[in-house]
Amino acid sequence: MDYYGKRMSKLIEELSALPGIGNKSAQRLAFHIIHMPKERVEQLTGAITDARENVRYCKECCTLTDQEICPICANPARDKKTIMVVETTRDLAAYEKTGKYEGVYHVLHGAISPMLGVGPGDIRLKELIQRLQGDVDEVIIATNSSLEGETTAMYISKLIKPTGIKVTRIASGVPVGGDLEYIDEMTLLRALEGRVEL
Ligand code: ZN
Repeated sequence: MDYYGKRMSKLIEELSALPGIGNKSAQRLAFHIIHMPKERVEQLTGAITDARENVRYCKECCTLTDQEICPICANPARDKKTIMVVETTRDLAAYEKTGKYEGVYHVLHGAISPMLGVGPGDIRLKELIQRLQGDVDEVIIATNSSLEGETTAMYISKLIKPTGIKVTRIASGVPVGGDLEYIDEMTLLRALEGRVEL
C-alpha cells in the first residue's frame, strides 16, 4: 500500500516503529510534520540528533545525562551512603519531583524478566555491585511492584545481604504493576517512608 508516496510512507513506517505509536498515530504525526514550518522540523530533528549524540550514562549512577557525572551525583549535598535502586531514569525523575529524597540513585535500565529473556547481565547490576564496595549504609530497592520488579528486588537483596549493607524495599501501596512515574508524589513519599528491611 503506497497511497502516500514513498517518502511519506517511509516517515510513517519510522514513526510507527516507536513505542506506543500505532499506525494511525504514525499517520497523524506524519501529516502534522509535513505541515509544520521547516524551521520547526529542523528544531525537532536537531533535538533528536543532539540528544542521541550527547546523552550518555552517568559514570556513577547510570542515569541518562549529558555530562560525565549527572547533576545529582555531582551535588555535594546529596547523601552518597544511601542508594535508591530504580528501573528507569523516569522513575528517578518521579522521586526527584517529590523533592524529599536526599540520597543518590542507581538506574538499572530494566528489570529481570525470565519470560522476556532479560537476565541479571542485561541490566546495570554489575555497576551497582561495584558501587557497594564504597562507603554505603543503605540500598533502597524501588523497582516497580510488577512481577519483574519483584523478581529484581529479590535478586538484588540476595546479592547484597552477604555484604552486611542494609537493604530495604519501598512499601507496597504502590499499585501492582503500576509504573512509578504515574504515581502521585504523596504515594511515592509514603512508599519511601514506609520502606521495610529485607
Ligand atoms: Zn549520577
